Amino acid sequence: MKTIGLIGGISWKSTAEYYRILNQRVLERLGGVHSARIVLTSVDFDEIARLQHAGEWDRLGEIMAAAARSLDAAGADFILICANTMHLCLDAVEAATALPVLHIADPTAAAMAAQGVRRAGLLGTAFTMDRPFLMDRIRDVSRIECFVPDARGRADIHRIIFEELVAGKVEAASQARFRSLIQDLADEGAEAVILGCTELVLLVEPGAAYPLPLFDTTALHAAAAVDRALA
Ligand code: GLU
Repeated sequence: MKTIGLIGGISWKSTAEYYRILNQRVLERLGGVHSARIVLTSVDFDEIARLQHAGEWDRLGEIMAAAARSLDAAGADFILICANTMHLCLDAVEAATALPVLHIADPTAAAMAAQGVRRAGLLGTAFTMDRPFLMDRIRDVSRIECFVPDARGRADIHRIIFEELVAGKVEAASQARFRSLIQDLADEGAEAVILGCTELVLLVEPGAAYPLPLFDTTALHAAAAVDRALA
């Protein structure tokens, strides 16, 4: 089994999900009392969020590169950046070590393609929805076209992520807004919704039916990491 390197703390709520899913899937695959080989480096999200909102992407790249080097030194075989947004620093992470980086968009695109999705709505932070990096990557690897909610919808989901989810708060009003955004995306022709922020799964109400299939980047990224670790 290979050792999975995680750049986490972006935020810790989603890193905890990664940790749970990685271990659960290794247990399911190998049985007994198996668990995943993981090295984790975890940053202070307050600093990350402030730098993101200040547009300090070079500094963020330095922090991510240092995180990648610490994973390399700790024996990781490959790296996961445990957030969509911080894939804006992919080049810095890839340049920092010789370790491969498993891109969060790739397993998501593959899962949608396997279901025959051609057009998907993307929810995430403003950084992920307003910039092309994630949508372009998905189109490049799968030809699936993505689109985002209108400006009000984008502002609402960004606010919910930064004021609530990363602090572990799940408000009923935000779950309702999430549902209405999914309905809007369905009305605009989406065949699926990408939960393109690793905390968005926290809004999903267990057992509830949504108007579109949801593709959770956290679960798909973690599952792909286990496939690679056990390959
Ligand atoms: N975890 C997030 C993501 O997947 C948001 C936190 C951040 O802005 O880095 O984009």
